[in-house]
Amino acid sequence: MRSVSIFGVTGSIGEQTVDLLMRAGGAEAHRVVALTGGRNIARLAETARALRAEVAVCADPGGLEELRARLAGSGVEAAAGAAAILEAADRPADWIMSAIVGAAGLAPGFRALRHAGTLALANKESLVTAGPLLMAEAARHGARILPVDSEHSAIFQALVGEDIATVERIILTASGGALRDWPLERLAQATVAEALAHPNWAMGKRITIDSASMFNKALEVIETREFFGVAPEQVEVIIHPESLIHSMVGYRDGAIMAHMGAPDMRHSIGYALNWPERSHLPVARLDLAAIGQLTFRAPDLARYPALRLAREVMARRGLAGAAFNAAKEIALDHFLAGGIGFMDMGRVVEATLAALDPDLGRENDRMTLEDVQAVDHLARQRAGEIARRQAGER
Ligand code: NAD
Ligand code: MG
Repeated sequence: MRSVSIFGVTGSIGEQTVDLLMRAGGAEAHRVVALTGGRNIARLAETARALRAEVAVCADPGGLEELRARLAGSGVEAAAGAAAILEAADRPADWIMSAIVGAAGLAPGFRALRHAGTLALANKESLVTAGPLLMAEAARHGARILPVDSEHSAIFQALVGEDIATVERIILTASGGALRDWPLERLAQATVAEALAHPNWAMGKRITIDSASMFNKALEVIETREFFGVAPEQVEVIIHPESLIHSMVGYRDGAIMAHMGAPDMRHSIGYALNWPERSHLPVARLDLAAIGQLTFRAPDLARYPALRLAREVMARRGLAGAAFNAAKEIALDHFLAGGIGFMDMGRVVEATLAALDPDLGRENDRMTLEDVQAVDHLARQRAGEIARRQAGER
């Protein structure tokens, strides 16, 4: 029986993972080791009972009492706090879903690699902040990382049977998010509610805003570079409003392999769950005649400073990714709280990177998890100061 753990089980990716596990026999067919959640303790307890997990962990230490009460009599152990999440990652499992949102997802996934299992990586922030470190750790322990981000799953699938040395370009598709058809002058006024109205994908709140600003795509460009080991200039971005082609790989003979399907994350999660096999998945089948046409357009860099900044981060590598991601998370917090405008997010990240420039000098092959966490911390402080100044000027 395969053993499974899910980090971030109460989130959008986590719940869709649970949906697939339930359809594949649930607790009868899997040994569920650890499930972790953030603040939604009722949901965490309910899922842990349904999957008969060995341990359920909530991120908030203050939630322990409630979690215990909700798990009473179930036989599921309860734990709380960041250290307990790390301990959960120390419990060996064959297949581990890394679906915590943000930089908080790095340490548990990194730790889980020690058991040489399969890490299904939805937490793109892990590769953005610590790509060289994470890939080296996986290689050291003989662990496998499988991509769950839809674009990277698409690329991974388009590479099956191919030699990475024959790849000329990787073309990431982007929906353009909720504001893609707004005139540039209006973007500065966009509200949280407007940026949340994603046309194609139903996702967590943070990644939905990041889609509208293309910070999500910026993270994914870096994720591509780190996961597949290609050069930055080989990674392209194209806006594809229908979100039916999930990404493409261009080979040196001019062929392009495109991966198509309904915009449903259960495809990418299921591919990582069943790999190397393809099993039946409950996703909609495309009716191409009804779709009629697919469209593409080049992204306008004036609208999306995030894409330009991603290039700078890749040129620098090392700890620049950790600073970029942390500054982006803080800028997003301030936008969500109404302190800064939509276009200010790019300004905050750019100013943070400039301010931290001298602190980012660590070589790729010498950086440690502690370096990454230190820069993350520093970048959050700086970005917070810059965002508050920006808010004062509005
Ligand atoms: P979400 O906000 O819906 O869920 C995040 C999960 O992490 C929840 O279980 C939450 O409780 C937990 N969490 C939040 N902060 C935490 C902390 N500090 N410590 C421990 N746990 C914490 O997010 P999501 O949309 O499911 O995204 C999860 C990850 O997957 C992100 O890295 C995201 O970029 C990536 N991803 C998501 C999608 C999608 O369709 N939702 C697609 C591609 C990639
Ligand atoms: Mg994606």
